[in-house]
Amino acid sequence: MGSKTKFISVLGATGSIGVNALNVVRSYPDLYRLKYLSAHSQADLLIEQALEFSPSAVSIGDADQYDKVKNALPGVEVLKGRAGLLELAARDDVDTMLNGLVGSAGMEPTIKSIQAGVDIALSNKESLVMAGDFINGLLKEHKVNLYPVDSEHSAIWQCLTGESSQDIKRLIVTGSGGPFRTLPAESFDNITVAQALKHPNWAMGRKITIDSATMMNKGLEVIEARWLFHLPAEKIDIVVHPQSIIHSMVEFLDGSVKAQLGIPDMKIPIQYALSYPRHLKQDWEQLDLAKIGTLTFEEPDLKKFKCIQLAFDALEQGGSVPVVLNVANEEAVYRFLDGEISFNAIPELIIKAIDAHDFLEHPNLDDILALEQWTQAFMKRS
Ligand code: MG
Repeated sequence: MGSKTKFISVLGATGSIGVNALNVVRSYPDLYRLKYLSAHSQADLLIEQALEFSPSAVSIGDADQYDKVKNALPGVEVLKGRAGLLELAARDDVDTMLNGLVGSAGMEPTIKSIQAGVDIALSNKESLVMAGDFINGLLKEHKVNLYPVDSEHSAIWQCLTGESSQDIKRLIVTGSGGPFRTLPAESFDNITVAQALKHPNWAMGRKITIDSATMMNKGLEVIEARWLFHLPAEKIDIVVHPQSIIHSMVEFLDGSVKAQLGIPDMKIPIQYALSYPRHLKQDWEQLDLAKIGTLTFEEPDLKKFKCIQLAFDALEQGGSVPVVLNVANEEAVYRFLDGEISFNAIPELIIKAIDAHDFLEHPNLDDILALEQWTQAFMKRS
């Protein structure tokens, strides 16, 4: 990269990914300039960010907070609601859109930005889980690059740099195993929200933290990897690695395995998605392997973590199944967080939704959006 300034839009700026992205931008003000920011409901933080970075426009999801944001930011264009978010996503006068939105709500903004010809730094894995095939077609059509922010996919991307895709034997996606890796299956019914929100290694938002506890996160990442790296499910494996130091690996046909390592901190993959192909200097905590001492690995327990198998099955069945899997999971996770259902009910409700839906072999975008609504409604009455 030369010294040309990159104009960036950060959607989900006040979430965990967004805040880290702004830290990266803050440390390289000559390289990165924030043009658009969006927030769901944290108006105060959005205002603070806008006062610091002077974006051209911001969008606040919660329309009730529009006046507050508007009054605090004279001279800044302020948009609101879902329409405001989609309008920002569709603007073509930025180089990269970093999608740090949570859940299926992040899919349409990804699509809008690709259609606008804007490169994507994608943290919102749900975009690819729900519409991977469709998005890959759009990327080709609009000659847009999509760079992964998810740490596993950033690792695989880095391992594949300079390699020939025909030489890949398999991808090995690592996962910490979450807080319940060693908890006996009999105790899963008594898991509390507070226990599930305590991830051993990663500081993340609430939805993805629960996904890590059920290990659905790993399943969604396998689907994400399938579309990012154009490989069938048979060539994607999961290995549990409790220390979260190796962020994923690639095995080649000659038996050589490449891994990418680092401290478990999203700042590194976020920066790489913006600075690619450079690894720019940072003085944040560095990896000290001697201090860590031991790296261990084990097979994932598919009996205990039913969501992993559900995701592999959804990938194999294809069509509309991953859409329903994703949306049903999201709704179940929020119901668990609200204390309405047990931890074990999460996979049970997902299976119910998948069984009840009308299968579509090749859903188009309208089908996917309709299925999203159908699944949300189904989950509310299940
Ligand atoms: Mg990940």
